[in-house]
Amino acid sequence: MSIENRLSRVRESLPQGVTLVAVSKTHSAELIAEAYAAGQRIFGESRPQELKAKYEILPEDIEWHMIGHLQTNKVKYIAPFVSLIHSADSGRLLETIEREAAKCNRVIDCLLEIHVADEDTKSGWEPDELRDYLASGALTAMPHIRIRGIMGIATNTDDEAVIRRDFERLAAYKKEFAAFFDDKFDTLSMGMSDDYPLAVECGSTMVRVGSFIFGERDYGNK
Ligand SMILES: *Cc1c(COP(=O)(O)O)cnc(C)c1O
Repeated sequence: MSIENRLSRVRESLPQGVTLVAVSKTHSAELIAEAYAAGQRIFGESRPQELKAKYEILPEDIEWHMIGHLQTNKVKYIAPFVSLIHSADSGRLLETIEREAAKCNRVIDCLLEIHVADEDTKSGWEPDELRDYLASGALTAMPHIRIRGIMGIATNTDDEAVIRRDFERLAAYKKEFAAFFDDKFDTLSMGMSDDYPLAVECGSTMVRVGSFIFGERDYGNK
């Protein structure tokens, strides 16, 4: 199946109001151009330098989303152009994004990534920690950041009940934390190739689909 066909398959399965982020990390600019020719305009990447390099050679009207864990010393590569950072997961990172966005005279849209999966990954806020952080009011001193919602990754398992539990938790956090923001807090980013239909059932407004569209990734020696 061509990229164009796969894209239409995904699009046709998404209800209105659910945004598709085509996750193009590790894939070539040629493949991204193919998806672009099929009408896709939003692409997700997880490494800042790779994102910047692709931004520089691909059409200007692409919206680039940063979806992977972001180190503070790499924010500078993407701050001038990134459309949405899905992976804002610490106060230190938010402070850095604020500073880099100010330098570029931009307001950068961000999602707060919450850790709900069973795996012990280092990315994502623990919900209690995030609750305290929001209550502290730290974000009110960051005029160059606009928090648009919540992002999360479900447990890597075949057990649909566990995945559903994770998505339902994320949806509940989105509801709870909306109290700290205005009506621009409208995004719930969850769902990947293997689980996006379930994520949509649980209230996702933005799915991040990679391998289903572009095929398996080759990480080389990484
Ligand atoms: C790689 C990645 C995806 C896409 O995963 P697929 O299984 O290829 O669809 C989605 N979200 C994040 C955060 C990723 O790192």
